[in-house]
Amino acid sequence: MKTVLTIAGFDPSGGAGILADVKTISRFGCYGAAAVTSLTLQNTQGVFGAYHQTPDAVGRQLKAIFDDLDVDAIKIGMLPTPEVVEAVADSISANPPSYIVLDPVIRSTTGFELVDENALQAIIQRLFPLASVVTPNADEAGRISGLSVRDQPEMEQAARKMIALGASSVLVTGGDFEGDFATDLLVDHGLVAFKTRRVQSRQTHGTGCTFSSALACLLAQGYTLRESIPIAKEYLVEAIRTAPGLGRGRGPLNHFPEGSY
Ligand code: PLP
Repeated sequence: MKTVLTIAGFDPSGGAGILADVKTISRFGCYGAAAVTSLTLQNTQGVFGAYHQTPDAVGRQLKAIFDDLDVDAIKIGMLPTPEVVEAVADSISANPPSYIVLDPVIRSTTGFELVDENALQAIIQRLFPLASVVTPNADEAGRISGLSVRDQPEMEQAARKMIALGASSVLVTGGDFEGDFATDLLVDHGLVAFKTRRVQSRQTHGTGCTFSSALACLLAQGYTLRESIPIAKEYLVEAIRTAPGLGRGRGPLNHFPEGSY
């Protein structure tokens, strides 16, 4: 069994962050371990605050994990402060896994800033070079590149800027755009578009977390990035389509949909 570690924020309502990650990791038949970077206060209706962890707390969680488990892949989500980024970068540089999926989380869909501006610069400097793939949505791609990202040509430009900033592969996800299809754009040594049908739904809390965790599992299991992306996208479509309709806001996904992913 492959071991996949998520380094991310905690959402007590279970739709995003570490709980979404570990459900996804379990669904893909991997063993999930987790280090908490921030204890957020949120539910399907919004984010109301966050207790960011100290770099020492994060570093010592990672030490406990790396001292004992062989980690095949890491998914990195919310890193709230530059100090936490440094702790994570130091720890994974000393214990490099085969695959790192970096989801550069910046703010919640409801507009809460989960990460401070200096943290973002540290993520670019310290973690972009370590990541197998960086998976920003359009909003995140825009914030990181300083470009506006409203269509596919702009997604490509932003991805190329992120490659220039040190990433080896960038997948800009297009799920937040309107239209019948959700098209993601991968830029690495080449350029590939991945298209799935769009499911119109309000039940989309934690989609970015879920997708990046699925990618980490598939990479750990030996699929190439180009093979992993369409599988993870199809899983996400089913997870949204069969969402249980919980909560009074943007509900969580069904992390255990039927299907042979
Ligand atoms: N909370 C945490 C801990 C997250 O990591 C993320 C995003 O990755 C969110 C909230 C935002 O989720 P959403 O975009 O569904 O609002």
